[in-house]
Amino acid sequence: MTTLRSGSATDVGRVRANNQDQLLVTDGLFAVADGMGGHAAGEVASLAAVEALKATYQRKGGTEGLVEAAEQANRTIWERGQNDPELHGMGTTLVAVALVNEDNEDRLAIVNVGDSRVYLLRQGELEQLTTDHSLVQELVDDGQLSEVEATVHPQRHVLTRALGVDSVVNVDVLQLLPLKGDRLMLCSDGLPRELSDLQMASIMRRLADPNDAARELVSAAKNRGGNDNITVVVVDVVDDDDLSLTASMALESDPGLQIPSPIPVYEADTGESVAGRDSFGGGRFRRAPRQAAPAAPTRRAITFRVVGFLVLLIALVAGAGFAVAWYARGSYFVGLTSDELTIFKGRPGGLLWFEPTVAQKTAVRTSDVLPSRLSDLRAGKEEPSLGQARDYVTRLQAEKTQLAQGTTTTTTTPPDTGATTTTAPVVTTLPAP
Ligand code: MG
Repeated sequence: MTTLRSGSATDVGRVRANNQDQLLVTDGLFAVADGMGGHAAGEVASLAAVEALKATYQRKGGTEGLVEAAEQANRTIWERGQNDPELHGMGTTLVAVALVNEDNEDRLAIVNVGDSRVYLLRQGELEQLTTDHSLVQELVDDGQLSEVEATVHPQRHVLTRALGVDSVVNVDVLQLLPLKGDRLMLCSDGLPRELSDLQMASIMRRLADPNDAARELVSAAKNRGGNDNITVVVVDVVDDDDLSLTASMALESDPGLQIPSPIPVYEADTGESVAGRDSFGGGRFRRAPRQAAPAAPTRRAITFRVVGFLVLLIALVAGAGFAVAWYARGSYFVGLTSDELTIFKGRPGGLLWFEPTVAQKTAVRTSDVLPSRLSDLRAGKEEPSLGQARDYVTRLQAEKTQLAQGTTTTTTTPPDTGATTTTAPVVTTLPAP
């Protein structure tokens, strides 16, 4: 079951003498109305709007009931204006949000007439759900005015639609699937007139309590000018029957998935075509396609490209493994085991997980070689093959023997003794392993 929590605030601002805004916060129905008209007429219109809305909605309920409630509010204000010269021409904007259950699904129904707004803060992003019924909005839609120019246009307060100015009114309707963590914000135009979307979003993200957020929004708008009445209702979705969990699981599975946005419930009517429209449910209205629930996680098909990539990856890893093994094991070195010269297969110190192994023990001791060779042996003297490693050991042994006997080999020049005496060095010929 969807659970909502709300907070609200309103302020006359710094310029106006009275507050013509009205707000409504009841169990499951929230509204903001911004009245207009001379003397006290604006206040009468906005109050009549929320009272009529509440009374009709409580009788009817549902999305259709919410639209009927807005239409009833329009009739009420229109008739009072017709019957009382002092109230003639009064009108009001209206935005309302109601929690409805249709087709066994909780939804938020949203209606709008005028330039009060409903925003949605979802996953930290602020989005304006409603479209203003104002002259500047039409100029923006036609591309004749930029959003920035619209904010300072002298006719920015001229409305193209309001409750109470005609016997019938066209009501915009949206539906939204409420997700836990969603924050809706209803406001009169006095708020966006002073604060940018970034400033509103920043406050809405910062303050968890809906009352705190509403108060801070109103206070910030007042501090930045307060040129109009400012009214804010904040509605938080605190529980959603695990709908958001399903949505986030779907998003995890497919980050490109779009969480459904609000959709118009009825085919949009435009401009003056509202005059003489059928009553709700009549032939001119067509229910828009139902908003899809967040898609269930889908398993991605394994494509040939993915398979090809995996095969290439395995081949590369295997190739790299063979190369490392070949390098690590494809060499020999002469080192020491205790005080004995030993021929190892591998690289001195090992490489990755390839440790050197003993290829041949030589029975040649460190005392059989020159002390100056010991540092090379401790570090491991690398040779490309086992045969060359054996030759190296033999040479070391011969070198020590020659030095001990004061003899020279045929490769060195013997001392001039007057006679050539060559004694063959005593060497150990290493047997094959
Ligand atoms: Mg206003």
